[in-house]
Amino acid sequence: MGKRLVLWDIDKTLLDVDGVGFELFSAAFAQYSGLTEHIDTRGPGRTEWQWFHDNLRANGMTPTDDCFPDFLTVQDALFEARAAEFVERGRVLPGAREILERCAEDPDIVSSLLTGNTRRNAERKLSAFDLDHLVDFSLGSYGDDHMDRSELVGVARRRVYQGTGIEFTPDTTVLVGDSPNDVLAALHGGARIVAVATGITDAGGLRSTGAETVLDSLSDTETVLKALLA
Ligand SMILES: [Mg+2]
Repeated sequence: MGKRLVLWDIDKTLLDVDGVGFELFSAAFAQYSGLTEHIDTRGPGRTEWQWFHDNLRANGMTPTDDCFPDFLTVQDALFEARAAEFVERGRVLPGAREILERCAEDPDIVSSLLTGNTRRNAERKLSAFDLDHLVDFSLGSYGDDHMDRSELVGVARRRVYQGTGIEFTPDTTVLVGDSPNDVLAALHGGARIVAVATGITDAGGLRSTGAETVLDSLSDTETVLKALLA
C-alpha cells in the first residue's frame, strides 16, 4: 500500500453544485455581517477561511481571531436548512464517481481530499451524492484547517502519516483540481498536480499557471489513473 497519495478538490473537479455553495456563503455573510448589501469577492480555489477574510476586507471590516468560527456557526445552519438543494441543482462531474471508486479499491492509492471547503461542508457535499464512502475524510485537509491552500498539502501529509504510517513525499503526493489555486497549492505546498479543465479556467490557463498535466475532464478513468500514477 502507498504508492500515491491522491488529494481531490471538490467543486468543479468532482461536483458542480450550480452555485449553491456560493449562495449559502453569501447568505451567511449577509447574516453574519448584518449588512443589507455587501460585496462578494470572487476567486475559485480559495479556502473558505481566505474567502471569508477577503469578503470582510472588501466590505470594510477587519478580521479578528474568532470571527471565522462565528461565521461558520451561521453558515452551518444555512447548509443544514438548504442541504437538499445540492442534489436538486447539482451533479457529479463525468467520470468522478468511477475514478473515486477505482482509487478506493486500489491498494497502492490513498485517496482523500484537499479542498477549500470546510470538512463539514466537504462531508455534506459528498454525502449528498453518495460519494462519501469513497474517500477517507480523516486523512484530508480542509478550508477550516488553514487559510492558505498551499499549507493544506502539509496538513494532509501529516494526517496521512499519523493515520496510516505512510510517509508520502512531494513526488508521491498528487493534487487533482480545476483552478489555478489548486495548481499553485501543489507547486508551493510540494505536490504534483493533475489539473482538470472542468472549471472556469481552460487548459491553457492551467498550463500557464504551472500545471504539466492537464486533462479535459475525468471522463476516461484509465487516462486519469495513468496520470495519477505517472
Ligand atoms: Mg475547485
